[in-house]
Parts: sequence; structure tokens; C-alpha cells
Amino acid sequence: MNKKCKQCQETKDIYDFARTRDNYDKIKYLTVCRACKSLNMRAKRKVEKVIEVVLEQDPLEQAPDAFKDDPRAVNEIMYGKVTKRPTYLPSGSND
Ligand SMILES: [Zn+2]
Repeated sequence: MNKKCKQCQETKDIYDFARTRDNYDKIKYLTVCRACKSLNMRAKRKVEKVIEVVLEQDPLEQAPDAFKDDPRAVNEIMYGKVTKRPTYLPSGSND
């Protein structure tokens, strides 16, 4: 049984495709072959690494007061502020 890879457009043996199971425990084959899948994973890892580097070099986040509250926020009016009130159980309901 052969299957065409969606990414490299090559027709390969079904065993060259990664398998997964659906909700009904039925075996399903991915639309990309194993080679393309590992390529994608590698590319994804590369992208994640780039993002990490960018975050590391962010001068705003590295500043010592980066996460301090804005002093103007203290004077802000908080609409919809919730006040907690304790719940009293009615007495004399012991069965
Ligand atoms: Zn492929």
C-alpha cells in the first residue's frame, strides 16, 4: 500500500508514514512522510530557538524595574470590583 506525501509529493510505502490513533482507536496515517515530519520538527525547533534568543536580548525585560507597576495605576478606578461576603447557613436545619 502506497501513499503520497503531502509535502514532498513523493509516493512512498505506507510504512514510511508516521501513524497515529484517532478517538475510535483506529490507526490513521499522517499526510506527511516520516522524513518530512522530522524535517518539520527540526525547522520548528530552530524557530523556537530564534524566539528564545530574541527574548533573552530584550532590554526592556532585562531592566531591574521591568515588572514594577505603573505609578499611575494606583489612582485608577477599578470598575466591577468584587467584594467577598461570607455565606451564612440557616440554623436549625439539622436532620
Ligand atoms: Zn515527504
